Amino acid sequence: MTGVGLVLVGFVVGCGGGGGGTGSAAGTCGTNFAIPNYAALTDPSTSAANFLVHWNVFPLKVYVASDVSKTFASVSHNASDTVDTAMQRWQNVSTGGTTYTRVNAQTGADIVVTFHDLTTAPGPGQALGVTTITYTPSTKQVTKATMTINTWQGMTSDEFFLGLAKTVTHEFGHALFISGHSPFTSDVMYWQSDPSLDGLPTNRDQNTILTAYCGVFPSSGPLVSSREKPETITIVCPAK
Ligand SMILES: [Zn+2]
Repeated sequence: MTGVGLVLVGFVVGCGGGGGGTGSAAGTCGTNFAIPNYAALTDPSTSAANFLVHWNVFPLKVYVASDVSKTFASVSHNASDTVDTAMQRWQNVSTGGTTYTRVNAQTGADIVVTFHDLTTAPGPGQALGVTTITYTPSTKQVTKATMTINTWQGMTSDEFFLGLAKTVTHEFGHALFISGHSPFTSDVMYWQSDPSLDGLPTNRDQNTILTAYCGVFPSSGPLVSSREKPETITIVCPAK
């Protein structure tokens, strides 16, 4: 009995630590845990292989370092309102796993969001958003993410209320679970985006985040200390 108990405990700890993962999959379940997904496909924008990443400590602390406000029909609106929209969307499709809280200080924040107002709209191929994720290479555990979301002078209400929500949802997708993009146009994580259209996570988006977090949610705990040098990757997400 004791031997069996030890084996089971060892298995659970292995999952919870998120360590010892092999291949490109985060967690312990491989890239085909929930299909169809784009976990191991090629990013059409870079021709590099996608790979999944994951956080281990929830709720994630999200800090907005710089906001932009726009006035429509005489009412002022903050771009940062889309942060809650985006995180709630991923929380919903991850069956409540990727919980978050907004914090008022950058110190100790996990994800730092900067809204940046451009003088002109990004043209085709120019960035709507840029996300960096810092992670431990062998485990794909993320320890920090930053994102810059572009707004611009003369934004239409569709661009502000619809396109911006899509862009922020997309950038949080990178910060939460994937380096790379979907090759399927309907997915939130498709590599290009129409700046005036919103989009909700699809079944493929949901399967991909659930695959990234397989084996992580039920036993999330403190980050495993590591002497491994973290890597930071920058993902640029262009307008269509
Ligand atoms: Zn992207």
